[in-house]
Amino acid sequence: MNDTIKKKCLMCNEEFSVSRDHLWKFLCPTHTQEFYIPLRRNHSFQSALHLIELAILLDDIEMLRDRFMGKPREEPKVSEGFRSVVGTAEWQKLKETAAV
Ligand SMILES: [Zn+2]
Repeated sequence: MNDTIKKKCLMCNEEFSVSRDHLWKFLCPTHTQEFYIPLRRNHSFQSALHLIELAILLDDIEMLRDRFMGKPREEPKVSEGFRSVVGTAEWQKLKETAAV
C-alpha cells in the first residue's frame, strides 16, 4: 500500500513524500529535522508553523537557527522578539502578501 502524497517544502521547495497520517508536515525531512523538531520542543504546532513562515517571509531562515538552536541554555527568553511580531498587523500584512 503506497499511501503517500507529494508536498513541497516551504523552505527549499523540494518535493517530498508524506504519508497520510503525517499530512501536517510542511517541510521536507531534512528541514523538519533541522527546524521543526527543535521548535516543537518549546512551541505548539501553530506557533512553530508561524515562526517558520515568518522566517521565510522575512527571508531570514538563519535567524530561526540562531534564535532557536544556537543557544540552548538561554531558552526562556529567546522567542520574545519573535512572538511580538506574530499576530500583529504587520504580520497579517506579510501573510496576505505571501498568499498572493
Ligand atoms: Zn526543505
